[in-house]
Amino acid sequence: MRDTEFKKIAIIGAGESGTGAALLGKHLGLDVYLSDAGKVSEKYASKLRNAQIDFEEGRHDLDRILAADVVIKSPGVPDKAPVVKKALVAGKKVISEIEFASLYTHKPIVAITGTNGKTTTTSLTGHIFLKGGVKTGIGGNIGKSFAELVIDDHLYEAYVLEVSSFQLDGCYTFAPDVAILTNITPDHLDRYDYKFENYIASKFRITQAQREDQVFVYCADDPVTVTYMPKFLIRARKIPFSAQVEPEEGAYLVKEIEFIVKIKNMETMVIKEFKLKGTHNAYNSMAAAIAARIHEIRQEKIKEAFSDFEGVEHRLEHAGTIGGIDFINDSKATNVNSVLYALGSIKRPIVWIAGGVDKGNDYSALHPLVKERVKAIVCLGKDNSKLLDEFTGMVNVIADTHSMEQAVKTAYSLASKGDVVLLSPACASFDLFENYEDRGNQFKYWVRQL
Ligand code: ADP
Repeated sequence: MRDTEFKKIAIIGAGESGTGAALLGKHLGLDVYLSDAGKVSEKYASKLRNAQIDFEEGRHDLDRILAADVVIKSPGVPDKAPVVKKALVAGKKVISEIEFASLYTHKPIVAITGTNGKTTTTSLTGHIFLKGGVKTGIGGNIGKSFAELVIDDHLYEAYVLEVSSFQLDGCYTFAPDVAILTNITPDHLDRYDYKFENYIASKFRITQAQREDQVFVYCADDPVTVTYMPKFLIRARKIPFSAQVEPEEGAYLVKEIEFIVKIKNMETMVIKEFKLKGTHNAYNSMAAAIAARIHEIRQEKIKEAFSDFEGVEHRLEHAGTIGGIDFINDSKATNVNSVLYALGSIKRPIVWIAGGVDKGNDYSALHPLVKERVKAIVCLGKDNSKLLDEFTGMVNVIADTHSMEQAVKTAYSLASKGDVVLLSPACASFDLFENYEDRGNQFKYWVRQL
C-alpha cells in the first residue's frame, strides 16, 4: 500500500465504480460521503446502506463534497459537470476510482485499454492467469470494480483490469506492470470536445506513470497508436504485436490461427490453437499471450488456456444453426470499426442486422466488405433512415424493422443454407433495448423461437 493522506473522501456518482470506491473507503476506515445528482439504483443503494455509507441522491451538497481531502469521480460523470468544475476551482484533487484503488494494493496489475477488444482481451488474459494458477482479480470496467476487488486484496496475487478512457482521465500515478493498448479509432468524441487528439491522449494515460521495469504492449499495425507513440513519454519497455511484421521482441501472426511470442531471455512460444475467430481476435490473443509470458505463466498452461477459451458473450458469439444458417450475436459491436472486423471475419454470404442509436457513424469504411459479402441488410432501430440512405442499392435487399422479433424473422427469410445471419449493429442500443446485453439476449431468444 502506498501512503496516502486521505482521511475524508467524497465520491460523485453511484454506479459500479462509485459504489466500489465508497465500499473500499469504508473498509479502510475513511470518512466516506457519496453524492449522486440522479437517482441511485436500488442495487447500489442497498449496498451503500448495508455498509452504513452516508449518501445523497438528486442533488450535490457542495459543502460536504468540498470538505473532503479528495474527490473520486465516477467515469459516467464528465469533467464539465458543474460539481466537478467547482471541486477543481476549489483546488480539490479529482481522481478516478481506478487511481484510488491502485493506492491500496501492491499486487501486479495488467491493465487493458483501447477502443475495441478490451473485454475480450481482459477476459482471455484473466482466463490464462487463472489457468496458470495465479489467484487473479478480474474486473475494472467489466464485472466488479477494481476498488471492490481491492477490498479482498489478500485473496489475490494479481489483477487483470479492463480500463476505459473515462477511468483513465482521472489517473495520475496508476502504473500497471503490464499496460495493453489494443487499438485506437474515434469513439466517445462527445466527451472529448469532438477532438480525436483528446481521446487519444486519454488512452495513452495508461502508460504515463509506468516505470522502466514495466511493460507497454501495443499493436504495431494500428496507425493511430504508432503515429502517436513518439508524442508521449513512455518509460516502460515497449512490446508490440503484429499481423504484418516480425518484431525483434513481441508477438506476430504467422498463419490465420498461429502466432509466435518472442520475449528477451525467454524461450520462444508458438500458439497454434485458439478458438477465437478473426484477425481482431488474433490481436487480442497476442496481447494476452505477451502479458502471460511477462508474468511467467508456464507455456503449457498458456496453451491450454488458449485451446479452451470460448470467447465472451455478445462478441461474435455463435447463437445457433438453423437449416444450415449460422446465427452470430455481435451485439457489443457498437461502433463501425468493430463491425468492420466482424464482417471481415466471416467468409460466407451475410445477412447483416444493423442499427440503433447512431453515434455520428461514418459507414464508408464498410462499403467494400458490404459489397463483397453482404447479401441483405436488416435495419433494426427506431429510426433507420441513415442506414437506408447509406446502403440502399448496395445490396440486393434492405429491410426496415423495428423489433428484434421482426428483425430475426426477416433475416431468416432472407438467408439460405450456408449463409450467416450476423447481428453487429454499429450503434448503441438504447432506442429499443435496455443495453447491448438485452439486445443480444433478445436476438438469441428469437433465434431459438425460429
Ligand atoms: P470493448 O470492451 O473494448 O468494447 P470487446 O472485447 O467487448 O471490446 O469487443 C467489442 C466489439 O469489438 C466486438 O464486436 C468485437 O467483435 C470487436 N473487437 C474485438 N476485438 C477487437 C479488436 N482488437 N479490433 C477491432 N475490433 C475488435
